Amino acid sequence: MEVIDLNNGVPMPRLGFGVWQVADDEAEKAVTTALEHGYRSIDTARLYQNEEGVGRALRASGIPREELFVTTKLWNDQQGYDEALRAFDDSTRRLGLETVDLYLIHWPSPKQNRYVETWQALEKLYADGRVRAIGVSNFTVETLERLLTETGVVPVLNQIELHPQLAQRELREFHARHGIATEAWSPLGQGRGLLDLPVLAEIGARHGRTAAQVVLRWHLQLGNVVIPKSVTPSRIRENIEVFDFELSADDMAAIDALDAGRRLGPDPATFG
Ligand code: NAD
Repeated sequence: MEVIDLNNGVPMPRLGFGVWQVADDEAEKAVTTALEHGYRSIDTARLYQNEEGVGRALRASGIPREELFVTTKLWNDQQGYDEALRAFDDSTRRLGLETVDLYLIHWPSPKQNRYVETWQALEKLYADGRVRAIGVSNFTVETLERLLTETGVVPVLNQIELHPQLAQRELREFHARHGIATEAWSPLGQGRGLLDLPVLAEIGARHGRTAAQVVLRWHLQLGNVVIPKSVTPSRIRENIEVFDFELSADDMAAIDALDAGRRLGPDPATFG
């Protein structure tokens, strides 16, 4: 598995497994399948209500802890300094882990205006060695700028909605300027519509790959970390088989041209 070095030197697999909207028992099964196919990074969250199932799958796999990369996130009702520390304790207990590799603020939730103190709690968890890296999710240029100005502590990454129809060029450029890695959620556009576009099938046919593999390869060549989700074993396997082919500059440009600023999820400037 290829890795990127986060801005604190911690290596992170460039492709991981997402488990949003997967019930606890099903998550245990899906994560088990993913680990069998070579995934080593798992993306969960308190919101997903499957940290326990993820934890069971990790333990049962017998894979040494240091070979796994586990991300979880605190939900919007856990913002605040003390609340965030408690949220972390609760998530690690459910996961059955002493440390997590990456802990994220799930949404900035600017209306609550508590993300700076929440971030300071994550800094404490990092200083105490309970988490190997701290980052954010769904932060905008504006909320990132405030975090940087008020705390000076740069998140290792920002996990954002990103797929060919929402290419997030401005945020990606901001991240690159500040040494923040870009992690794409819903990297396949949730499968809806995007994967049926003829241009992806055409590119895929030339490389002997599926539309999903073409989209994941586009992300990797842009430098994004990706966390595709599937509960179907054949797709779980297909989605990790993307490190042995290369899209041409023309292929990349054809996929870049699909950007339509089309959001599937909520607007982070107002959500939460
Ligand atoms: P995704 O883009 O990964 O799409 C998943 C869907 O695409 C599947 O349910 C399936 O219908 C389809 N699919 C998957 N593999 C396929 C294949 N090979 N061929 C055809 N169809 C395929 O969507 P997602 O689950 O929304 O996002 C991935 C992960 O990102 C989540 O599981 C979660 O971990 C994370 N996420 C984070 C946030 C956030 O706010 N931070 C929000 C949404 C998702």
